[in-house]
This record gives sequence, structure tokens and C-alpha cells, in this order.
Amino acid sequence: MDEAIAKEKTLIIDRKYTCPVCDKQIRAKSVKSNAAKFIDTMVDLRPLHNNINVTKYDAVCCPNCGFAALTKNFTNTTQIQRKLIREKIQANYKSHEEVECDTYTTEVAISRMKMALLCTVTKGGKDSEIGNVCVKISWLYESLAEETEDEEKRALYLKEADNAAFKAYEHLSNARMKEDFPIAGMNETTLDYLLAYYAYKKGEYQTCMQYLSGVVTNRNTTPRLKDKSLELKDLVSPKLRDN
Ligand SMILES: [Zn+2]
Repeated sequence: MDEAIAKEKTLIIDRKYTCPVCDKQIRAKSVKSNAAKFIDTMVDLRPLHNNINVTKYDAVCCPNCGFAALTKNFTNTTQIQRKLIREKIQANYKSHEEVECDTYTTEVAISRMKMALLCTVTKGGKDSEIGNVCVKISWLYESLAEETEDEEKRALYLKEADNAAFKAYEHLSNARMKEDFPIAGMNETTLDYLLAYYAYKKGEYQTCMQYLSGVVTNRNTTPRLKDKSLELKDLVSPKLRDN
């Protein structure tokens, strides 16, 4: 076995779930609690850990009916949502045995997360939940881009990462207006930082600056997030002057 895969394998376990849609017992690989050593977060808040990409293990998918969701949302469904999934997902889904594997590749993780996105939209999930899945799809494509040596593929993956980020931007902006914090697991300053970054990526420099000044002046902003905001501000300022 590849050394990196062997290391990753020591950090994960198979967890059992009962699918809320079809009631079957299923398994999904999951990161052992407190096993992954945190290193840093990237500019888009993608977390980096030693020897493992934890985002790969953040979706649970039922191989029997096709229902998928972020791990934290998998068992929280309403009766109406389960009905929608049965009618619109399960009815067209070809059930199969769970494929045995040691770890999830980034490609497999992306297809699991895309299934979670389809189901979250289909069940009429909240903007925060849809946005949260899109953030993770974006992070996974960023990781996939880092893994490849092929320039053309890398450009393609980065474009996919941007597309998912822009979808996340739309849904999380809506969530910010309608929902209470935490939104997608983030407090106000963290979400505003992320929205600032997405606005920057979209070329909406004015909006980016508005979010950033809110984050920088908020007394609840952690020093780490403040540093990140100031770095982002340095990137945006010259763009604003050029426009
Ligand atoms: Zn199921």
C-alpha cells in the first residue's frame, strides 16, 4: 500500500448509520475524532491537516436509495424532505453494494459531495446547508488541482472550484439575510470573511471591502481571522484603485 494511503487509513474508521429515507443500515468512512492534526487554513478557509484531507469524509451516501448529505445533516430530515427524496432520488436510483476501499480518493469524495448537493437541493434544504455543501465541493476541487501534474487538468479543476465557490457565495449571502448564526457552522465574522473572499474572486471589490471592514472592526474577530482579513485587504486595495 502507498505510504500516504497507509497513513490516511490509520486516521479513519467505518461508521454505521441508519438511512432516514430507506431505513437500511449503511456505512461511511469518517475521520476519527481528534485524530487529524490541524495545520492551517487556506485563504478560502479550506482546512489543512497532517496526512489527511478531512473534507473528503464529510458526506454520507446511502448506496441503497441514493440519499446523501453532509455528515452533520444526514439524520436531520423532515417527513416532507424524506418524501421528496423517495420520489425524486430513490425512484431513479440504481442501488448497489458499497464499494470496498481503504480511503476515499478526492475524485470519489467529489462525486459523494455532488450527490449530497443534488439531494440537499431536491429536499428543499436551507440556503446555509446548500451553501455549505458548495463550499466543500470548491475545497475538494482545490485539493484535486493540487494533486495533478497536468496543467490543463489543473486549470479545469480550478474552474470547477470557482464555479462551486460562486454558488456557495449566492446561497450563503441569502442565508446571511434570512437565517440565524451559526450559518454553515460559521459565526458572523467567519462567514463575512468568506463572503469577502468570494466577492474578491468575483471581482466585486467594493462588496469585498464592505465585508472586510466589518470583520476588521468587530471586537469578536479572532487575531488569526483579522490577519487573514488584512492580507485579503492588501490584495483588494490595488484592484479598487485600478477600477
Ligand atoms: Zn437510503
